[in-house]
Amino acid sequence: MDKKFAILGDIHANLPALRVVLDDARSQGVTDFICVGDVVGYNASPCECVDIVRELGCLTIQGNHDHYCCSNDPLTDFHPLAASVVEWTRRQLRSDQADWLRGLDYQKNIPGAMFSIVHGTFDMPEQWGYVFDVLDAESHFVYQKTPLCFHGHTHVPVVFEKRGMSAATRMEPIGFQVSFGRKYFINVGSVGQPRDGIPKASYCIYDTTTRSVDFRRVEYDIAEAQARIRAAHLPERLALRLETGR
Ligand code: ZN
Repeated sequence: MDKKFAILGDIHANLPALRVVLDDARSQGVTDFICVGDVVGYNASPCECVDIVRELGCLTIQGNHDHYCCSNDPLTDFHPLAASVVEWTRRQLRSDQADWLRGLDYQKNIPGAMFSIVHGTFDMPEQWGYVFDVLDAESHFVYQKTPLCFHGHTHVPVVFEKRGMSAATRMEPIGFQVSFGRKYFINVGSVGQPRDGIPKASYCIYDTTTRSVDFRRVEYDIAEAQARIRAAHLPERLALRLETGR
């Protein structure tokens, strides 16, 4: 069936960014929404973002922030800045929202669409390892059975490609057409806290008819996201980093 998927990741409770991304996706004729995890954390609108993602009927998996925001697990592995927001988010989420996050899987195959999703890597998905380079990507490709897999976690859009037995290569996040016989591991970037130096919200569109992947960057009202962070008394650094995309 012909479908156009918008694949969103690392929304991180940034409501103004999520809204413009959804508008942009609809203007592109998207038929289905997918989320590669981390709906919450870092920004100040976790409840609104969880509700929107649920209402979209958007297939979603559990990121590390999602996991810690709906559990009481110790935050020893978290940067203090991130940990303070996890603790705040725990107090915001309604019980039905926490239950929903808790019920999310760590990885998914999209039926009939030849792609899979994971937050970090298929190499122990519940440990949320980071894929920064081709070596990290190689460990992931061992477990990737579908031609395409979309992920997030680093907040930096990038494509890793694997041709047969040869070493994985890295491609810039520009649109491309899927070639048969190759595997692609695609980082969609972050809706709510981009870290590649470009402050615009990032996401991907995958068109099953043309077999093409498109990277989208959308401007949003950063000042509104910052105002929400300040009103919630979350760390000021989280507001400032949105301006620089770091
Ligand atoms: Zn994240």
